[in-house]
Amino acid sequence: MDKLRRRVRHGTVKERARILVVGGGYVGMYTALRLQRQLKQELRRGEAEITVVTPDPYMTYQPFLPEAAAGLISPRHVVVPLRRVLPRCHILIGEATAVDHAERTATVTTLATDEEGTGPRQLTYDEIVLAPGSVSRVLPIPGLADYAIGFKTVEEAIGLRNHVIEQMDIASSTRDPAIRDAALTFVFVGGGYAGVEALGELEDMARYAARYYHNVRPEDMKWILVEASDRILPEVGEAMGRYTVTELRRRNIQVLLGTRLESCADRVAVLSDGKRFPTRTVVWTAGVKPHPVLAATDLPLDGRGRLKCTPELTVDGATHAWAAGDAAAVPDVTAAEPGKQTAPNAQHAVRQAKVLADNIARSLRGEPPLTYSHRYVGSVASLGLHKGVAHVYGRKLKGYPAWLMHRAYHLSRVPTVNRKARVLAEWTLSGLFKREIVSLGSLEHPRAEFELAAGGKPSDDPKGSS
Ligand SMILES: Cc1cc2nc3c(=O)[nH]c(=O)nc-3n(C[C@H](O)[C@H](O)[C@H](O)COP(=O)(O)OP(=O)(O)OC[C@H]3O[C@@H](n4cnc5c(N)ncnc54)[C@H](O)[C@@H]3O)c2cc1C
Repeated sequence: MDKLRRRVRHGTVKERARILVVGGGYVGMYTALRLQRQLKQELRRGEAEITVVTPDPYMTYQPFLPEAAAGLISPRHVVVPLRRVLPRCHILIGEATAVDHAERTATVTTLATDEEGTGPRQLTYDEIVLAPGSVSRVLPIPGLADYAIGFKTVEEAIGLRNHVIEQMDIASSTRDPAIRDAALTFVFVGGGYAGVEALGELEDMARYAARYYHNVRPEDMKWILVEASDRILPEVGEAMGRYTVTELRRRNIQVLLGTRLESCADRVAVLSDGKRFPTRTVVWTAGVKPHPVLAATDLPLDGRGRLKCTPELTVDGATHAWAAGDAAAVPDVTAAEPGKQTAPNAQHAVRQAKVLADNIARSLRGEPPLTYSHRYVGSVASLGLHKGVAHVYGRKLKGYPAWLMHRAYHLSRVPTVNRKARVLAEWTLSGLFKREIVSLGSLEHPRAEFELAAGGKPSDDPKGSS
């Protein structure tokens, strides 16, 4: 008989340990995955129960979003179906809107909440894992909320791909030079890996697609990266960041350092250096902030709105509350300077999830917790097909070798053998055949055709929605 069973019998833990995981991303999925292995016997005997609350039934492998936007990986293969990988957990599609940890209760709205008319559900738990990640950090810039798009979800990545190709179609069909110019101007704000990779991949895709347009040439397009600081890609170090600037400029991409977006009202991007770009595309990747639901808990937050955590991944000063990933301020015990915290990235999120799950299992069994310790090993970034930059374990790579390393690394990291095989098959096929260059933007409005046939008016205008 294992320790947990003895402790249940002796009354030191509740008969059933109800574990609630808020979020089904990196931390949420990997924590639940490890817990269902660690607590296999307990789950089978009904002594433990794991519920994952998350708005989507899938985990998104975010590092693949730029390749999905470029059409090199299909959207279905960028996501991992939670019900398939977590068969021993309950998956509840919904959003936690508040947590009262003193009462061990989370308020959750589900897809059925509105229809039921009974208000949100109250879920009680014994252990809670808070992993809602982060949201785009948006500033009060005129026009931003109306015209810009983020790059954090598979919907945004595919929407952006469709939008870019649609802009090329608009440019190709208009006789108005102002419309054409705005359609072919693409502004990306934020020079972290999300912004740089998204721009690099989409520019590469558009450059390729242009060969199939009789009147759109790559030189007709304006690709602009706006970054407030004096460098881009801090994740790969200063030298590789400088190389990336040179490489992007060589491709005729304008990299504007020390520059901010001041307005994009009326579809004109106005920059702090006075430049103005009429455009129908503003992609906002200027950082993230912790998910706002954290402010609706009774747990301690740091100055940046993240949950204050211990190196054991418990929330500081609270028992039975755990957190990791973008939502958590976790002390970096490997850092020389005191007070440093781990950066919000997948590298830490995955490793923290494992320690977090182990610590929950250990605490249920009355064993001492483990300390989270991982020294950041560096980063890889893709800048388009066969182009990349990497700084890993002190080694700097650029161009094709870096791109190859990027692919090999992420193939080894993407969850499940099934997904690895599908992604590898897609890469192999895209190496053998030509790239897809169609926009399927109309998929976002599946009823438009029928509404027209039925004599109504299509409810939404798909053009220029972002
Ligand atoms: C385009 C892009 C590229 C990236 N590339 C890299 C890379 O190459 N290397 C790297 O290390 N990192 C990369 N990152 C960062 C990395 O993806 C994140 O650091 C990581 O996803 C953080 O994990 P998380 O579990 O904290 O959050 P997430 O993975 O974002 O998961 C949060 C989950 O919580 C859910 N959720 C949100 N609100 C609620 C709620 N109220 N109730 C319940 N659930 C909720 C969300 O839907 C989501 O499923 C990239 C990020 C982006 C956007």
